[in-house]
Amino acid sequence: MVIKPKIRGFICTNAHPVGCAAGVEEQINFVRQQSPVKNAPKNVLVIGCSTGYGLASRITAAFGGNANTLGVCFEKEPTEKRTGTAGWYNTAAFHQQAKSAGLYCKTINGDAFSHDLKQQIVELARQDMGKIDLIIYSLASPRRQDPDSGEVFNSTLKPVGSEYTTKTYDTSKNLVVDISLSPANQQEIDNTVKVMGGEDWELWIKALNSAGVLADNCKTTAYTYIGKELTLPIYGNATIGKAKEDLDRAASALNQSYSDLKLKAYVTSLKAVVTQASSAIPVMPLYISLMYQVMKNEGVHEGVIEQIYGLFDRLLLSDNPEVDDVNRLRMDSVETNDEIQDKIKQVWAKVNTENFAELGDYEGYHLDFLKLFGFGHDNVNYEADVSPSADWV
Ligand code: NAD
Repeated sequence: MVIKPKIRGFICTNAHPVGCAAGVEEQINFVRQQSPVKNAPKNVLVIGCSTGYGLASRITAAFGGNANTLGVCFEKEPTEKRTGTAGWYNTAAFHQQAKSAGLYCKTINGDAFSHDLKQQIVELARQDMGKIDLIIYSLASPRRQDPDSGEVFNSTLKPVGSEYTTKTYDTSKNLVVDISLSPANQQEIDNTVKVMGGEDWELWIKALNSAGVLADNCKTTAYTYIGKELTLPIYGNATIGKAKEDLDRAASALNQSYSDLKLKAYVTSLKAVVTQASSAIPVMPLYISLMYQVMKNEGVHEGVIEQIYGLFDRLLLSDNPEVDDVNRLRMDSVETNDEIQDKIKQVWAKVNTENFAELGDYEGYHLDFLKLFGFGHDNVNYEADVSPSADWV
């Protein structure tokens, strides 16, 4: 079939297998051009491995440090008539490349929040890999089924405390518009913490430890976004921010509970980038477009792979990395520094539908968005008839 993007609101409902493979190859090539990762872990588990920051983490571990990788994701397989999801094709391409490079990898597609999936990973680690040195927790999910009670919790993206009115970019209509977001009630806050907080991260470490597959001195990190004034009302101080605060609690609990293994658990704050998860958050597409323009003008722009290679190279794998006042690793310090933020605030005050293309990096945002689904690559022929099927070898 000839595959063209089908964009619906903030999501693209199909994906291009050849384009997704080109995106994975681009990231692998970037990592191969850097120095090998120092203190590289041998066996790595990436939870949320198929897109965004998790995929970049898996690529960095494998191609920057020759690690064996186990991955967990939740993706749709292609059928004869429908393409698979981008994460499906990314994983197929990752497997292909890892196999050619002689690197062990296996991926389980299913619900990371379930006990069953955790046990499947434990079995694979026991059979194929041995003890795990590094666990990356990079899930972004709108819902979670509690593995014991079976109750399903949905997360919400709402401010906390009072209504918030701000500008946003409506990606489907190509307009900069005002939106008002009503505040979350306590139930919505609690449910968001249940989905995106630290409980499941702790359950993963518990399952791996009980099965004896956590290595001494192993490291684990979960990813967060902190941001500054422009995003605080809808991110840092909002429902999702409350869930992310719970990651700080979980990191500290993990460090205490597994001190016998000398486990080190960190929350890592990363820069805002275009991913499937961030595209769904009101305000973020506008903020990211303006921030990209400012950071590109200053020559300090980074995407997912640059951020994650930097994290592995400078912080995560060091014995005593620099941490902030809550023991977090900070890869977002260039984005959040006052000089960059002041420049973003200046354009934020002026931006509207008419001047958006000039003030913001609309082209860069849109191209990154298309690339998430395997579209927009110069080296891919999008007129060609391609098979939607792709196996995880
Ligand atoms: P993403 O949407 O690209 O990736 C989410 C991953 O989670 C995918 O691999 C998906 O398959 C997997 N997943 C979702 N639900 C699952 C389930 N039930 N079971 C198994 N796998 C499941 O998201 P992302 O933007 O890369 O986000 C990853 C983490 O990074 C999140 O914690 C996010 O808050 C954080 N982060 C993102 C940004 C950003 O700007 N995108 C910035 C800082 C931090």
